Amino acid sequence: MHKLIRRQLKRFFGPRDIPEHLKPFIAAVSAAYEQSDHDRHLLEHSLDLTSKELVERNQKLRQKLLEHQTITESLQESEERYQLAVQGANVGIWDWAISRHEIYYSPRWKEMLGLEHSHLPNTDSWFSRIHPDDQDEFHAALDAHLKRGTSHFELEYRIRHKEGHYLWVVNRGLALWDDEGQPYRIAGSQMDVTTRRHAEEQLRYDAIHDTLTKLPNRTLLLDRLDFLLKHADRDSANDFAILFLDLDRFKLVNDSLGHFIGDQLLIQTANRLQNAIHETDTLARLGGDEFVLLIEKIQQVEDATHVAERLLDCLKPPFSLEGHEVFTNASIGIALSSDAHQQPEDLLRNADTAMYRAKSRGKGCFQVFDTRMHQRATARLQMENDLRRALEDEAFEVYYQPIYNLRHQKPIGFEALARWKHPDLGMVSPSKFIAVAEEIGLITQLDYWVLKESCRQIQHWKETYICERGLTINVNFSARHFEFSGLGAAIERTLNETGLPGHCLQFELTETALVQFKNQKVEEELSRLKEIGVRLYLDDFGTGYASLNYLHQMPFDGVKIDRSFTQGLETDPRKQVFVNTIFKMAQTLKMEPVVEGIETAGQLQIISSLADCTGQGWHFAPALPVEEAEKILQQAYRRKDHDRESLLG
Ligand code: C2E
Ligand code: CA
Ligand code: CA
Repeated sequence: MHKLIRRQLKRFFGPRDIPEHLKPFIAAVSAAYEQSDHDRHLLEHSLDLTSKELVERNQKLRQKLLEHQTITESLQESEERYQLAVQGANVGIWDWAISRHEIYYSPRWKEMLGLEHSHLPNTDSWFSRIHPDDQDEFHAALDAHLKRGTSHFELEYRIRHKEGHYLWVVNRGLALWDDEGQPYRIAGSQMDVTTRRHAEEQLRYDAIHDTLTKLPNRTLLLDRLDFLLKHADRDSANDFAILFLDLDRFKLVNDSLGHFIGDQLLIQTANRLQNAIHETDTLARLGGDEFVLLIEKIQQVEDATHVAERLLDCLKPPFSLEGHEVFTNASIGIALSSDAHQQPEDLLRNADTAMYRAKSRGKGCFQVFDTRMHQRATARLQMENDLRRALEDEAFEVYYQPIYNLRHQKPIGFEALARWKHPDLGMVSPSKFIAVAEEIGLITQLDYWVLKESCRQIQHWKETYICERGLTINVNFSARHFEFSGLGAAIERTLNETGLPGHCLQFELTETALVQFKNQKVEEELSRLKEIGVRLYLDDFGTGYASLNYLHQMPFDGVKIDRSFTQGLETDPRKQVFVNTIFKMAQTLKMEPVVEGIETAGQLQIISSLADCTGQGWHFAPALPVEEAEKILQQAYRRKDHDRESLLG
């Protein structure tokens, strides 16, 4: 029974029994009380629970609110950042709701195309402005992305400005697709890249054009030749020719009138040539004063030679350059694509070789390339390389040709003559390599080597033999030494190093060298040599152009009469008159005559009857290797050590 009921019953009935008929009622009331207690209990418990939950929920809500606030803020920030970025990047935005056929263009997008005040209702306002040449590519790229073929849409293309000109833009976009895979929206950006594009185009142009004359340069020419050679291979109707043109006097103009005038000459030359050719021909400048004309579709070589004549003609009238009237010639080498299947560089080289041939034939003409020229040029190149290597490896030898006192018939010295010990060709004569060595500038090194070697040898012989009349060495020097200063100093150094006295060295220089370097420097250097006692000889006398007047200004001690005078001396009386005249002249100028090329006793006899002089030639001995030359000394002179031995003995 519920405790409250029990307490009430006790108060009401005391110790008396509870009437029987009341008991069910009391039980029901008690049960009701208990139920109520139970309910209250439950209620209290659940109330308790709810408030806790409420607190929790409240907290969560606050949390959410806070998060929301942060998100809103960062959204705002990112929106701003986006705006800034878009404005800063100067990018126009577009947003195309495909399914609704609506498109939004940002103000910058419109402004880029000068359309800021226009109403642009659809994609047509955009697509119709794309350059006709870029239409296909544009739609292909866009479709590919809308069909999910690409991760995004991106293309650089031209689009028309309101004013009519085209801009280069880069467009990028990204699409969204619905559940059925249909694109329903695509948005992106458009950026103006015209300036960059133009700069790139300029760079591309500059890379293949010559800045001075604006003509195509070597790169573009080679490219074109490469293309043409591939086509000429297949069909002779595609045969072509190239004309390699080099101005003959450009260096002179450049050096004497300066680079500015030199440049003007090149520009005017380019203009004249350009005016003299057909539109279909390509004129390029390779650099310096070298131009190449490409003539396409020629049928015969005359097609090219006629053009060459025309080009030479157009350069004939004088050029007027800043008040200077300048004449210039050109040499032209012609190469044909049909010569052989070849690389563009080969073709250029052939034309270049032919051009050199034209130059050496006399300037102002043209020459068509043939394969023999190529062989010659290759052999020549091979020789240049071999020569360079030979100098490094000291693959030279000095041969000694004795020079005789004709009256006493005794050797009084030697002429040092270079020989090249070639690995394949054996001993190569100087007539084959001196000219090349001169041309490529190796001659000075070679001469110094011969000088040192022969001075050392002569000093050794002087110390070994008793030569009553002394012993001299004649060394040949190229005119190229006069391009630099220091010849005198270098010779003096060698004399000091080898111990040979200056008066034992006889310096030989050809007449041609004098004509080439009619300048102060030659005189200065020669005087320097005289100061250290070296004797000077004019070589190959009579074959060059040295005027007598000029000869007597130079401090020569002697002349070497060329062997062309000696030859035929016995049969041709006029030769005797010549030689006699030279002797007389030498005597007047106080120069010692040395006769070259004495081959016979008859020649020797005639010469001896005309003058008391020295000479050399095969009658006595050819140029000999060192051991054989020494034998000649042995026969003529006693050794110093023998004398000493016999004195001691
Ligand atoms: P060169 O100075 O006139 O030398 C004389 C040339 O005539 C030498 O030819 C010699 O061997 C040759 N010879 C000598 N006697 C006779 C003869 O009786 N008959 C004929 N037919 N020829 C004779 P080599 O040695 O072939 O030299 C040729 C030229 O090469 C030289 O002519 C000289 O100008 C040049 N040369 C030689 N060695 C050197 C050098 O070390 N430096 C320079 N710069 N030139 C050199
Ligand atoms: Ca000589
Ligand atoms: Ca000579």
